[in-house]
Amino acid sequence: MTPTSVELSLRDRVFRVREAVALAAERASRRPEDVVIVAVSKTVDRATVDVAYALGLRHFGENRVQDAAAKFAEPLPADAALHMIGQLQTNKAAVAARLFGMLESVDRPSLIAELDRQGAKLGRIVPVLLQVNVAGEAQKAGCDPAAAAGLASRIEQSPYLRLHGLMTIAPLVADPDLTRPIFRGLRELRDRLSEERPGRRLSILSMGMSDDYQIAIEEGATQIRIGRAIFGP
Ligand SMILES: *Cc1c(COP(=O)(O)O)cnc(C)c1O
Repeated sequence: MTPTSVELSLRDRVFRVREAVALAAERASRRPEDVVIVAVSKTVDRATVDVAYALGLRHFGENRVQDAAAKFAEPLPADAALHMIGQLQTNKAAVAARLFGMLESVDRPSLIAELDRQGAKLGRIVPVLLQVNVAGEAQKAGCDPAAAAGLASRIEQSPYLRLHGLMTIAPLVADPDLTRPIFRGLRELRDRLSEERPGRRLSILSMGMSDDYQIAIEEGATQIRIGRAIFGP
């Protein structure tokens, strides 16, 4: 069977991203395999996701619960995971807790309480990240950095939630290097939270998108969320 053109260009782009990940990791004396690529599939259909899976990608990110529920009505193979990366409404928590392997956009007490309730109903511990608005942008999702310690404790006191780390979205800027302080800020917040709460290691730092993931890796990202660089504009 000859590969379709979609498959070829996708293969090309995945190759290029993997190469750039490896180079960025090397610059930071880190191992490329310590950086998980979450392919953000919000703009593509299921057939394209399946091609990406065949190319070895195992993590997929979506930002709308209902779109994701339709796209993944037929579940992915068991070795793949779906990540919720968009703003999560409390009334979608039930579907989200069932559908996603990780919820990256947890940022407020009401959502924490509702997800814990849904986890209890499902009898499942729901893996989450705390989303932090490091840049302090108005109208953006994510908690205030000053509220992070309190929310982290709240998640850790929820029997059906498990806090794995932090997530942030950097502001849109013309020069990607301007995002560096934001990524560094999230890493330092993670280090501070880990120090203050011994035995509660936050291993995941989800930061960096198509325009700035190399900088995020240099600053310690363990998970990058890549849409356009993999699936095209
Ligand atoms: C869409 C999206 C991404 C991917 O963005 P690209 O710039 O296309 O790589 C990453 N994170 C979040 C939260 C998104 O909504």
